[in-house]
Amino acid sequence: MVATIEPVEYEVHGETVFVDGIKRHRCQGCGEEILRIDAIEELRKKANEYYKKAHELLTGDEIRAIRYKLGVSQSEIEGIIKAGEKTFTRWESNKVIQSGIADSLLRVLGAVPGALAYLKGMSPVYSRTIAAQIAFASNTGETVAEVSGTRRELMAA
Ligand SMILES: [Zn+2]
Repeated sequence: MVATIEPVEYEVHGETVFVDGIKRHRCQGCGEEILRIDAIEELRKKANEYYKKAHELLTGDEIRAIRYKLGVSQSEIEGIIKAGEKTFTRWESNKVIQSGIADSLLRVLGAVPGALAYLKGMSPVYSRTIAAQIAFASNTGETVAEVSGTRRELMAA
């Protein structure tokens, strides 16, 4: 057995990725490689992270940064977007790759002011108003607060 950290091939969603820095042992006789369980876990996470980058999906670190920016705990945001328990732990550690739809939702939550508050559940009428303001604000580049102010001025005039 010889120790090695050469790039290792790993398959993610039917695609082969090469992962660096995974410590393992190789049999010099048959070439078979032995990985410790923690190395297998690290390999899976790194392979998922490479896959996310290759497919322009948010990495675990990027998802965590969005959540910190929103100022919510993992369980809070899981409740707000109706994701299952531990979803964010898995996404943020790269243990699981989020779907394209989930990725888009996370980007909207991170970029559109008021989007999280909108999902937090308001009265249906108020929610529609906020949704219209968010849609309008994202088209004009204004913030939702600015749009609300403009609307109020128009209504008062
Ligand atoms: Zn062998």
